[in-house]
Amino acid sequence: MTLLTFRFAPSPNGELHLGHAYSALLNQKLAKASGGRLLLRIEDIDTTRCTPEFEAGMLADLKWLGLGWQEPVRRQSEHFAEYRTVLERLIREELVYPAFMSRGEIRAFIADSEMRGRDWPRDPDGVPLYPPADKALPMKERRRRIAENTPFAWRLDVGAAMARAGKDLAWAEFTDETLSATHLVEARPQDWGDVIVARRDIPTSYHLAVIVDDALQGVSHVVRGQDLFSATGVQRLLQEILGLQPPAYFHHRLVLGPDGRKLSKSLRDAGLAALRDAGASPDDVRRTIGL
Ligand code: GLU
Repeated sequence: MTLLTFRFAPSPNGELHLGHAYSALLNQKLAKASGGRLLLRIEDIDTTRCTPEFEAGMLADLKWLGLGWQEPVRRQSEHFAEYRTVLERLIREELVYPAFMSRGEIRAFIADSEMRGRDWPRDPDGVPLYPPADKALPMKERRRRIAENTPFAWRLDVGAAMARAGKDLAWAEFTDETLSATHLVEARPQDWGDVIVARRDIPTSYHLAVIVDDALQGVSHVVRGQDLFSATGVQRLLQEILGLQPPAYFHHRLVLGPDGRKLSKSLRDAGLAALRDAGASPDDVRRTIGL
């Protein structure tokens, strides 16, 4: 039997909180129970918001919690060349296109369309879908704008990608923490529209880096928060058009704050460093999150 591989993949753009502790410790527990391994991946492609200080803080918090992972840690910012190779393939295969509309232009386009009585579709997070306007730009015009240094992002042509996949897509989702059974969930990448796959200066996005790394690192089990459940549809489509073997998924419950809302990195009181400074022990953290 092949070794089961789990991973915990935080982004160092803030401090870890109880929700991260739950995710990390659940991955550790499931890896241990199945005789598998746990990897740690630092998702730091956003080089403006991610800092070495946040990363050092995260590593210290995870060690304090008692998390053990297999070295080496993969740091995404050290692998831009690998993502670029994959991006270039998507460009060659015309599955992505340069999208030039600024935030203001997008807003104006949508307002204009809504004024004419058409509700503009929104993604599962409530963000309006990217307008189809520059998918139709002739190649020559795209080249001219890029040569002129017009800002742009590479967006997935979700229609073209779904046509390339050529079939309805689904992913295997574990039914509970015992990881004993899965059911198939329909992937609905179209709900997200033409998502960003790379930026002009950063040859990847969250979705692209995650699926490339999960495949490269042989991740068999992706265990992460429920907040990423429907984004899995986009990732499943990218795996399909790139010919990557999909892992199985378990999207776990979220640890909520006292107000019943999802924790965020700006909510300091649920931060692990703050809890530790206030005298909490790793066992107190485990008890609080029920692990
Ligand atoms: N880096 C992502 C986050 O911190 C998690 C990505 C994943 O687990 O797929 O939210």
